[in-house]
Amino acid sequence: MRIAIISDLHANIEALNAVLSHIADQKVQDIVCLGDVIGYGPNPRECIDIVKNGRFCLMGNHEEAVMFYGEDFNEKARQALEWTKEQLNSPQYDRTSNYEMWNFLGSLEESRTEGDVMFVHGSPRVPTKEYMVPTDVRNREKMTEIFSLIPSLCFVGHSHIPGVYTDNFQFLGPDKVGGTYTHQGGKALINVGSVGQPRDGDPRASYVVFDGRSVRFHRVDYDVRTTMDKIYATPGLPNYLADRLIVGR
Ligand code: ZN
Repeated sequence: MRIAIISDLHANIEALNAVLSHIADQKVQDIVCLGDVIGYGPNPRECIDIVKNGRFCLMGNHEEAVMFYGEDFNEKARQALEWTKEQLNSPQYDRTSNYEMWNFLGSLEESRTEGDVMFVHGSPRVPTKEYMVPTDVRNREKMTEIFSLIPSLCFVGHSHIPGVYTDNFQFLGPDKVGGTYTHQGGKALINVGSVGQPRDGDPRASYVVFDGRSVRFHRVDYDVRTTMDKIYATPGLPNYLADRLIVGR
């Protein structure tokens, strides 16, 4: 099994297309998506259209919020959420096409386990909502509980910060592992980073290729300016959502 794992596309079609063309050279059989296909960015429909052809896609907190209610969303995220909802219901598209969008969202699972590898958007404990961030390695209670739920490996997204959490309470960023993490037994939780809105200070799109044992972290340049200009030109999306793309925060 050699798969590409993507997450947190956030309706950024320029980033997604750049990642897909990079993936085309990686000899992978399948693409797996860990959720947050939509939210924040200007092209939710286009991103859903692409992702629905992957092997599977999980539910992120943004999919959950657009279908139910984003009670834990801040003001700017909620504004983007309302705009996204309008796009998915837009009378500019025929009804069948809108149904397809909502059917896709309604079909997403919260987590999936294949063999001893688990996939989830946030964390195994609270699948769509809980963040795993580097400082969590100091929170032994949280780490221990989360690792007790992992068979061997667990892939997550959600925090938009790529890296590896080990069962001896370490966080290793992609650079720390020389770009490739090779699993040698024990347990590990791997954050694949974000395609459409990186937050680790590097604006390039992030994703990984997994061959059953090794995880290769990739960063891909894309036309950030085009995405930013689309956001600036969309009154329903706060400018801040464009500003942060160029700095990767
Ligand atoms: Zn996200």
